[in-house]
Amino acid sequence: MESTILQLSYLIGSVTFIIGLKMLSHPDSARKGNMVAAVGMTIAILATIFLYEHNGEKLHNFGWIFAGLAVGTIVGTLAAKRVQMTAMPEMVSLFNGMGGACAMLISMVEYNHMQHAGEAAATTGTMLVIVLGMVIGTVSFAGSIIAWGKLNGSIKDRTIPAGQILNFLMMGGVVVLSVMLMTGMASGAAVFYGIAALAALYGVLFVMPIGGADMPVVISLLNSFTGCAAAFGGFLYDNPVMLTGGILVGSAGTILTILMCKAMNRSLKNVLIGSFGAKATGGGGAGGKEQGNYKEISMNDTATLMAYAQKVMIIPGYGLAVAQAQHTCHELEKVLNEKGVEVSYGIHPVAGRMPGHMNVLLAEADVPYEKLLEMEDANDQMGGTNVVLILGANDVVNPAAKEDPSSPIYGMPILEVEKADHVIVNKRSMKPGYAGIENELFFRPKSSMLFGDAKKVLQSLVGELKQM
Ligand code: NDP
Repeated sequence: MESTILQLSYLIGSVTFIIGLKMLSHPDSARKGNMVAAVGMTIAILATIFLYEHNGEKLHNFGWIFAGLAVGTIVGTLAAKRVQMTAMPEMVSLFNGMGGACAMLISMVEYNHMQHAGEAAATTGTMLVIVLGMVIGTVSFAGSIIAWGKLNGSIKDRTIPAGQILNFLMMGGVVVLSVMLMTGMASGAAVFYGIAALAALYGVLFVMPIGGADMPVVISLLNSFTGCAAAFGGFLYDNPVMLTGGILVGSAGTILTILMCKAMNRSLKNVLIGSFGAKATGGGGAGGKEQGNYKEISMNDTATLMAYAQKVMIIPGYGLAVAQAQHTCHELEKVLNEKGVEVSYGIHPVAGRMPGHMNVLLAEADVPYEKLLEMEDANDQMGGTNVVLILGANDVVNPAAKEDPSSPIYGMPILEVEKADHVIVNKRSMKPGYAGIENELFFRPKSSMLFGDAKKVLQSLVGELKQM
């Protein structure tokens, strides 16, 4: 009976995970989806704690188990509640690293079990699962911690001399030692932990030279690694919910990695060994050319231009998130709508600092989802747009990505704002964006600069429009 309930709880855990993942694909259902998956997983965890049996023995270390659960829950809840939207990628990276560390520790514990039991039953298959879980989990843990440090600015991009050869040698060492361990040609804890040390070093050196702007791709890739490592844990414990969860996280991470590479028009190989971001953050970019003069536009002129437009497209970027201007932005949309102006939003897939950043931000301010246009649709509609208002976006509208083969962002699809009649750019200064490169758009004839913090500028703009 107990084992039936246990299996049923695993089924509930797996199904709710799949339903939750599906619901995450739309902002309206995303929160609920997260909840559904979390409830299902809680059921599966509690059932495992109270009903799981191994060789006729149940779990008994309840003090340790619940103390661990309590610490994890408190730390996780506080961190998630306090984190700024703009620091979300860092937190995702850190949490992902913890997942990798769990997979690594599971493998280490199971290896120790086998050693102490002197188990002849440790088949090559079991050993393979233990070693794979440990290697992938360790790479993910070490890599994610480096990614976390890079995103919060405490670790700088570093090119490692002969880094690729070093990485190749380390991976080679991991493979050779693992095969020796599994075939019995080598044995003992020293070999096992030697493999772990090499994998950790590999994780560090593999992420270290990758540039800032490529971090989201790396985090997504590491996320898929953690999923795979967890799936190996599922094999090890014959636990279907861990297996399903791991496989789903692994495949979702892989799909997201591929989609992000496509959004930047780059191959994964190019991201991993191209050091694009390192070059990019080095500055220069658009060839360090003379940029000419830019013109400024007043608040009053902006309001007039927008009030008499038929179609306005807002392009949100990282600056909007920093200024927390999403609610005021929605207010601007409503004021314009009242004046008969049609407003839409052009969303670039890598605008902001995490995949879907702008969608989440605008959904938080109750902007109707139908108003958000994906990049291709936005570009199709740009021709008939009278005014484009760029709010704290920079790289995602940089024409160098299309026009300048020497630019580090060359090839990345952009929002083609110059197809519209007028382009108004709101930012605080002429400083570059994330990729660290100049943006010639600001100096083009159709563009006008509207300087200031996005929230304050939008508040004034709404005020002006209301008086018209
Ligand atoms: P950018 O980082 O290119 O530019 C943001 C601009 O916002 C800056 O130029 C800044 O200019 C301005 N800004 C900052 N604060 C404010 C404020 N309070 N009010 C008004 N403006 C402000 O942003 P994009 O969204 O265009 O591009 C995203 C970049 O981030 C891409 O390079 C992408 O590859 C990268 N990236 C994307 C991730 C993702 O998954 N989405 C993750 C990590 C990186 P100023 O200082 O003059 O105000």
